[in-house]
Amino acid sequence: MKRLDGKTVFITGGLSGIGKACAFAAAHEGANIALVDMDSDLTYEVMEELRQVNAKAIFIDCDVSDHSKVKSAIEKTIQTFSSLDVALNNAGIGGEANRVGDMTKEAWNTVMSVNLDGVFYCMKYELTQMSKQGSGSIINMSSILGKVGFANSSHYVAAKHGVLGLTKAAALEYAAEGIKINAICPAFIDTPLLKNAGITEGSDFQKAIVAMHPIKRLGTSEEIAAAFIFLASDNCAFMTGTALDVDGGYLIQ
Ligand code: NAD
Repeated sequence: MKRLDGKTVFITGGLSGIGKACAFAAAHEGANIALVDMDSDLTYEVMEELRQVNAKAIFIDCDVSDHSKVKSAIEKTIQTFSSLDVALNNAGIGGEANRVGDMTKEAWNTVMSVNLDGVFYCMKYELTQMSKQGSGSIINMSSILGKVGFANSSHYVAAKHGVLGLTKAAALEYAAEGIKINAICPAFIDTPLLKNAGITEGSDFQKAIVAMHPIKRLGTSEEIAAAFIFLASDNCAFMTGTALDVDGGYLIQ
């Protein structure tokens, strides 16, 4: 028996990195996928790959920082698959690197609007539907930087701490209705987001980052997808409001 057989899974930021790995893992577990991202050169290729593994999948072009587009994306998902069983609020960006005193208001707002407002918009409409159903599982993509600081990334660190606060408050509000809400806190995972932040293969910055993980390597998107499937499935029926560290030991130091 597959763990997400016939379930509708809504994934933001599903065209790349962690979101893409989670979409394929959910497809392998029998889920119908609403893949939500900003339309790009990757859309055709990723949707084609999903079709090759026989997934029932739709692509929805949506910027999660746009409240009305998020509402439409969730409506489209429900129209297509008749339910919303699992949601992975994963879309996120790194943003410019600067100390607080040098950070522009625009850079701050851009990261907050995608990484925190976007998660709130998604949860608002996901929970409206899940509440009607009396069931559902939401997984928010936070970070180890939702628990500890990191220099020159105050916007990202604040947003990821905010995602954990939002997760806990909402988990309390909906626990008695059969809806569980959890978060994942990955350490540094080898995805395009890291390359865009200058953490490129073989660079001194990358070596310094690797050294911060007791396991002495970066994580893979597939390792985060394994945690996502666990939290999405009935295997964690008694877990809500948790922030699951998948971090190669980063946070135990
Ligand atoms: P990625 O850049 O590989 O993928 C992010 C995806 O989100 C892309 O497909 C992008 O188009 C999409 N996206 C960005 N802004 C969007 C928006 N406004 N609306 C809709 N889609 C948007 O990054 P990733 O490393 O896979 O990161 C995924 C999530 O995991 C992010 O929330 C990130 O903060 C978090 N995370 C990543 C790491 C890491 O080291 N890579 C560590 C901890 C947490």
